[in-house]
Amino acid sequence: MEFCEFELDEKLLRAVEALGYKKPTKVQESVIPEALDGRDILAESPTGTGKTAAYLLPALQHLIDFPSKKLGLARVLVLVPTRELALQVAEQTRLLGQFMPGLSAGTLIGGVDHEEQLPVLTGKTDIVIATPGRLIEYLRKEMFDIRAVEILVLDEADRMLDMGFIDNVREISRAAYRRDQTFLFSATLEGGILTKFANTVLKDPVEFHVDSPRSEHKKINQYNYHADSLEHKIQLLEALLRDKSVEKSLVFVKTREGLQNLVSRLERDGFVFSYLRGEMDQEKRLEGLRRFSDNTVRILIATDVAARGIDITDITHVINFDLPRTADVYVHRIGRTARAGRKGTAINLVEAHDVPMLEKVQRYTGDSQDTRVIEGLRPKNKTPEFSRRKKKSREGAGTEKRGGMAGEKPERKPHSKERLRDKKNKGKPDFAAKRAKKALRKQESGEVSPET
Ligand code: AMP
Repeated sequence: MEFCEFELDEKLLRAVEALGYKKPTKVQESVIPEALDGRDILAESPTGTGKTAAYLLPALQHLIDFPSKKLGLARVLVLVPTRELALQVAEQTRLLGQFMPGLSAGTLIGGVDHEEQLPVLTGKTDIVIATPGRLIEYLRKEMFDIRAVEILVLDEADRMLDMGFIDNVREISRAAYRRDQTFLFSATLEGGILTKFANTVLKDPVEFHVDSPRSEHKKINQYNYHADSLEHKIQLLEALLRDKSVEKSLVFVKTREGLQNLVSRLERDGFVFSYLRGEMDQEKRLEGLRRFSDNTVRILIATDVAARGIDITDITHVINFDLPRTADVYVHRIGRTARAGRKGTAINLVEAHDVPMLEKVQRYTGDSQDTRVIEGLRPKNKTPEFSRRKKKSREGAGTEKRGGMAGEKPERKPHSKERLRDKKNKGKPDFAAKRAKKALRKQESGEVSPET
């Protein structure tokens, strides 16, 4: 499929070309036509799959199709879990909208002075990209007028829920009750809370399961290095970081304290790196990220919370200094490498107490990791055995290499609705028909939000 087959304006097609996007990604192929048709979208799609353009292109097309009547009010609102992601989405908006004169986008994010964000609150901003915490603050102080929002996007919805934003997002969704469309993107659609939540904010959505994270990680080589102790683990890490083939690595640490200890030790041992902690001054964070993304430093150390939303395409290695608490976080972590068609490596530093978690990961992903050793740093203790019974029995049953943790329900089968399309007018958006369709939908719903 080609981008020109979508009913997208020439200004957007030019931008896509200028960005060097040759073909739509799977998620774009699925989402864009339905979103242009005015449907709500529920999409399982992790970062790195092109999901941002999948919702930005239809949103920008909407602004082209229906030029603004009232100046000054946001018409597209994108909610994202982190400041970094907000800045990345804002940048993609700027790039995709580069041939739309007068288009303006702004961010409302935590860690930035209120003064600095005033232009977004008071100026003409068609698209606002916000983190839920900061936006709620402005809504409650009646500093942000949400009533003109026509499209609401919830990006990385699973992360927003994980981070405890569910009530804020619900409140924002309720306040934006006049909207026409809602798009919800999530790395995973598993879990009752997310499904329930999606039902309250979406209206008759088209659902897609595109490039689920479990199939995404297939281009990632995964290895385990066993360690006898924390000290042994640090030595393994240092040896790996000194290895020339480990060109650009993101090192995950489970806790803030653990991060602080590791940072002190690596500094003492002469390593040059950036690090990200959850609660960190925004400028320091951005500076750390900038140094890593422009290759001033080749090592970034972060906790899971701090690393959310990072989109750096050339990370060669993800190193789990600590294993994460859950298997899906593992999949998120290793998905930071092998971006944009590249290959990547994930390395786990495993102490004896990590073995049960690693087994969960193996059951969840359907992958096993090869064990490796570094000469001079071989573990003295016997390598713990992994039980592979469960995996074998599933493979024996001829199922795909995926599946849930013990006791989990099997993954829901993808479904997408078959829709009749107006083939005759391909390439020529029928604005009158679109407007009529939207008006009808509004009428049918009595102009009320899904929650009311
Ligand atoms: P996302 O999943 O939105 O975080 O996108 C991941 C990366 O893929 C970003 O750097 C995008 O610029 C890039 N991208 C998005 N769509 C395409 C496409 N159709 N072809 C090539 N790269 C793309």
